[in-house]
Amino acid sequence: MIVCKFGGTSVGDRAAIERLVGIVHGRLASRPVVVVSAMSGVTNALLGLVEGTTGGDREGARARLSEIVARHRSTAAELGVPDALEGVLEAEVTSIEAQLDSLADGAAVDPVRDAIVSYGELWSSHLVAAAMTVAGVPSRWIDVRTVMRTDARFGRAVVDRQVLDQAAPAVFGPIVEAGVVPVTQGFLGATADGRPTTLGRGGSDYSASLLGAALGAERVEIWTDVDGLMTADPRVVPNARLIEVASHHEAAELATFGAKVLHPSTYAPLIHARIPCVILNSFAPGRPGTTILAGASVLPIEGSPVRSIAWKKGITLINVRATGMLDAVGFLRKLFEAVERHGISGGVVATSEVSVSPPTH
Ligand code: ADP
Ligand code: ASP
Ligand code: MG
Repeated sequence: MIVCKFGGTSVGDRAAIERLVGIVHGRLASRPVVVVSAMSGVTNALLGLVEGTTGGDREGARARLSEIVARHRSTAAELGVPDALEGVLEAEVTSIEAQLDSLADGAAVDPVRDAIVSYGELWSSHLVAAAMTVAGVPSRWIDVRTVMRTDARFGRAVVDRQVLDQAAPAVFGPIVEAGVVPVTQGFLGATADGRPTTLGRGGSDYSASLLGAALGAERVEIWTDVDGLMTADPRVVPNARLIEVASHHEAAELATFGAKVLHPSTYAPLIHARIPCVILNSFAPGRPGTTILAGASVLPIEGSPVRSIAWKKGITLINVRATGMLDAVGFLRKLFEAVERHGISGGVVATSEVSVSPPTH
């Protein structure tokens, strides 16, 4: 069994979804489980509805909701599956409108934001499942929230791996055994009492690796819009080169410091089970991609000791300079306790005898 995750641009329109179906069709012998993100731009658009409503623009938010729905409807029609969403869409749009209204009336924002944003993945996965059926690939839509139990930290929920490890084989196993392709959502989870949660931006990669580990997959494939993990972001450095093999740790470090091609936590479920992760280009499926393996040796690329350069916006640098540090015991502990009290995760730390810089992000 393999897990194939398709990101936003890889489900972004009719052509992308048709390419996806072709890729999955070519892999049926490996018994794929398909995990999808929302269509490109949809997560941001749904978040915009929440921000707009809390900012007082209730009517504007309703108009933008109609546009989002229209995009899904027209993609369904283009794919020749006009009814793909009709069974759910009307009730769900009414529910989104009611939730936006509740925001205007002062409801807590975080749970509502996760509930609304979850429709991006729910709708894209319905489109993909229907497109597969039409193309003769047997498929079944699965609501990932039945297995992806999380805590109630809305926007960055933590998954209960024990529940997932038990529930995922029971739900997905029989479908895969029957030669049917399960199509499910990345990014989404639910609390024990059924409230929708999300795993953090870009979290579909992490969902795929969690499912891959829970199902004992042979490999996890991350299908995206570039050739793999590169020596730099190819949108910024057009002649960036492909890194053919990387270790899980290397990929996690690069992801943490800005290589958004992979969510930083993707490696965690895979590393102990030694499950490889392959990053592939859904716009050019024949290319080799990057294979990420536990313990892969990190070799120089064409003689350069620098493997890859990542960059990130929105970093805050805290520079503490204090003569009280000189020969002091426990100074850093006090400093990091203060950082912890504010719930901030530190990145790189540089320290000298009288100064320390833990940049945060
Ligand atoms: P998806 O929607 O498929 O998850 P993302 O937009 O999250 O795709 O990630 C893919 C993007 O990551 C690429 O379009 C690329 O611009 C960016 N990126 C940043 N750093 C790197 C890197 N080192 N290698 C490859 N892509 C990178
Ligand atoms: N759709 C979500 C996001 O835009 C999750 C993902 O794409 O991985 O963050
Ligand atoms: Mg991504």
